[in-house]
Amino acid sequence: MAKQYETVIGLEVHVELATRTKIFCGCSTAFGAAPNTHTCPVCTGMPGSLPVLNKQVVEYAMAIGLATNCRITRVCKFDRKNYFYPDNPQNYQISQLYLPIARDGYVEIETGGTKKKVRIHEMHMEEDAGKLVHDEWDDTSLVDYNRSGVPLVEIVSEPDMRSAEEVIAYLEKLRQIIQYLGASDCKLQEGSMRADVNLSVREAGSSRFGTRTEMKNLNSFKAISHAIEGERERQIELLEEGKAVIQETRRWDDNKENSYAMRSKEDAQDYRYFPEPDLVPIVISDEWIQAVKSRQPELRTEKLERYKKEFDIPQYDAEIITESKSMADLFEAAAAICKKPKKVSNWLMVETMRLMKEHGMEPEDLRFSPENLAKLIDLADAGVINSSVAKEVFEKVFAEDVDPKQYVEEHGLKTVHDEGTLRTTLEKVIADNPQAVTDYRNGKEKALGALVGQTMKAMKGKANPGMVNQMLREMLE
Ligand SMILES: [Zn+2]
Repeated sequence: MAKQYETVIGLEVHVELATRTKIFCGCSTAFGAAPNTHTCPVCTGMPGSLPVLNKQVVEYAMAIGLATNCRITRVCKFDRKNYFYPDNPQNYQISQLYLPIARDGYVEIETGGTKKKVRIHEMHMEEDAGKLVHDEWDDTSLVDYNRSGVPLVEIVSEPDMRSAEEVIAYLEKLRQIIQYLGASDCKLQEGSMRADVNLSVREAGSSRFGTRTEMKNLNSFKAISHAIEGERERQIELLEEGKAVIQETRRWDDNKENSYAMRSKEDAQDYRYFPEPDLVPIVISDEWIQAVKSRQPELRTEKLERYKKEFDIPQYDAEIITESKSMADLFEAAAAICKKPKKVSNWLMVETMRLMKEHGMEPEDLRFSPENLAKLIDLADAGVINSSVAKEVFEKVFAEDVDPKQYVEEHGLKTVHDEGTLRTTLEKVIADNPQAVTDYRNGKEKALGALVGQTMKAMKGKANPGMVNQMLREMLE
């Protein structure tokens, strides 16, 4: 019988914090600026420059630690992690090794109806590196230091996950908590959330861990899933052939669906860590923790509770909507404007979800405003447009955030309520479809549907279906 293997996965998740300025200087953290415009002597590692810690970084890190059930370290400090790389101008990174800000937490995940705790080993604060841009045409590499010194927290899990599904559930949970806290936007594509996957396999039932590899450069949930499946298969193959897995860092190429070795994996001693002499230790008092706790915004569980009391929407809808803070924000804002929470929830649950799926979008990618969704609901409710036109207009709202009122006006999409116009069209449809008319009169109810369809087509979808139905029946009697 073939051997059974178990996959053991631990994650290192880097999250860029949403501070306006960098961790040790006053430079902006805004994404997408021209290269090297958000820099100063501190974040480009000029000799003699000195770091000054951004207090907001500590507070965001504390907030994330508290929300993930960690113990906050009362006296924590920074250490230097020494390594040479062009994106790292100081030749060391200011990070935390000995006394990280938070330890021993957990988050609860749910997969296939089963709940499970994934333990968090520790969480530390550090600075991000710059970005190398490789120009293959010119055969050169350029460096942009805008990202150098952007604050990060690194959240290190215990090796508690056993499948790609659990990993994704864990990442989604972290992202949800951090977004709710407002501590980061957690965009994988823009790199404000990045995951390194440590993976090993072992024979099922064994209590010893196998040799692990680390995979970097994973910037979507899809890439993470693929990388896990690919690496699991690669390691099992090696073991089946009696070969050893080498402890190393591998880079996953999602286009080639393959990983390749980058370098042998370093241990902490390779970095020659030592206490950062330019920064004083951070002493965290009970009062400070209390203050951070009291400023904590409404998290998902509380929001769900409130929705139950405030809005008459199904529990299932409330759960889906509150899964993402940006979706919940959109819902609440639109409901506040049109005062029809149930309708807003329907539009989000059905049409929005359908289009998001079609375009492979996340709730954070939604670009339409709550105002325009509310306007569309009002138009449909007042009978200005019928439901199929409303769906058509919504696609425009979804894609371009058009003003539905203006759009309906400009494209002549208002439902025709004029009985005279409708009667003329109906007379023509009746005259053109004698067979369907006979069928209906002989008791075939279905034939009426065909006539309604013809009428809607003739009216370019702008008739009121209820009115068409009623008038047709009357005219055919
Ligand atoms: Zn700077």
